[in-house]
Amino acid sequence: MSLFNAVEMAPRDPILGLTEQYVADPNPRKVNLGVGVYYDDNGKLPLLQCVQKAEEKMMAAHAARGYLPIDGIAAYDAAIKNLVFGADSEPVKAGRVATVQALGGTGGLKIGADFLHKLDPAAKVLISDPSWENHRGIFRDAGFTVETYPYYDAERKGINMDGMLTALSTAEAGTVVVLHACCHNPTGYDLTPAQWDQVVAAVQSRKLVAFLDMAYQGFAQGIAEDGIAVQKFLASGLDFFVSTSFSKSLSLYGERVGALSVLCQSAEEAGRVLSQLKIVIRTNYSNPPTHGGQVAATILNTPELRALWEQELAAMRVRIKQMRTAIVEKLKAAGVQRDFSFIAHQVGMFSYSGLTKDQMVRLRNEFGVYGIDSGRICVAALNSKNIDYVAECIAKVV
Ligand code: PMP
Repeated sequence: MSLFNAVEMAPRDPILGLTEQYVADPNPRKVNLGVGVYYDDNGKLPLLQCVQKAEEKMMAAHAARGYLPIDGIAAYDAAIKNLVFGADSEPVKAGRVATVQALGGTGGLKIGADFLHKLDPAAKVLISDPSWENHRGIFRDAGFTVETYPYYDAERKGINMDGMLTALSTAEAGTVVVLHACCHNPTGYDLTPAQWDQVVAAVQSRKLVAFLDMAYQGFAQGIAEDGIAVQKFLASGLDFFVSTSFSKSLSLYGERVGALSVLCQSAEEAGRVLSQLKIVIRTNYSNPPTHGGQVAATILNTPELRALWEQELAAMRVRIKQMRTAIVEKLKAAGVQRDFSFIAHQVGMFSYSGLTKDQMVRLRNEFGVYGIDSGRICVAALNSKNIDYVAECIAKVV
């Protein structure tokens, strides 16, 4: 009798499982559009110049690797506050933001979820329908009941705003609402500034708790433009949470660089909140790793590197947009009757392509083109070498 007799086999992660299948596929023309990773036009994961330069500086300093403070590198946390809220913003100047370095955006979400659950164990959490699948798991395993608010309108290819607002305006006070700050994953549809006003008003009038997930800042319109949701919530005077990820924007996936920021009413309150976030971190992994946070802090706090980063981020954003326009044109050129122009209007790394599960399975099994069964494809994995093939294959299944 083993201790583990009753342990059931957990289901495989659907997206990582797909990558395994892709790797094993002998088809020389295979294309992986399943993952949420930005590849350059050669199909390579980029190592940004700004990262290389920051690392050169760091290596030259030969710094010892002591433990970091529980909340991470002070210069990193300060840079996050400036990036998320604005360097001259009132809350940053007033010291009413509590920020901690976290293990990627996932880590920021998890620290926030654990803290919120201690604060109000009975609260519900609402995530968008559909959402990044891990939102559900993170908040569920922090102890919350997780439900959804309507988001995607498949028929009209856009956002079901009425459904979303109805769900928010009937939610119980204290409900935590997880919102994609920009580049909604998986749909590619973001709220307009006017729609954000409506969401902020609903959150405010129902006394809900907003948790903005900012995993793709700079991938939709630009760094400042993509911060619109944060600015709208800031203007409302509400307390709210923001998780940050540099996995995509600095192409530092494996370094696990992210943060959690909590906007509070006063510096005194931010001090108390920070003390509790530090307990969550201390009891989970004690303190964050040095390398990635130091790279990000060096880039964000060195004007030339910051400028270089903005150029490189803009290049990634522009390339994705070009791929969006190109796939629409190439589908048309391949004789596809259906209107796919919506792909060019979506933003961020993903597109909800509108392809059915059967079509996605055919793309995979017959052509080696790997996307998610929901129809989600990663536009950031298209390039000038694979896009014609992908368009041809889609043309064959629609
Ligand atoms: N939120 C969303 C919406 C994401 O798509 C991702 C990454 N796929 C994350 C959070 C997590 O980011 P990280 O890899 O930095 O943990």
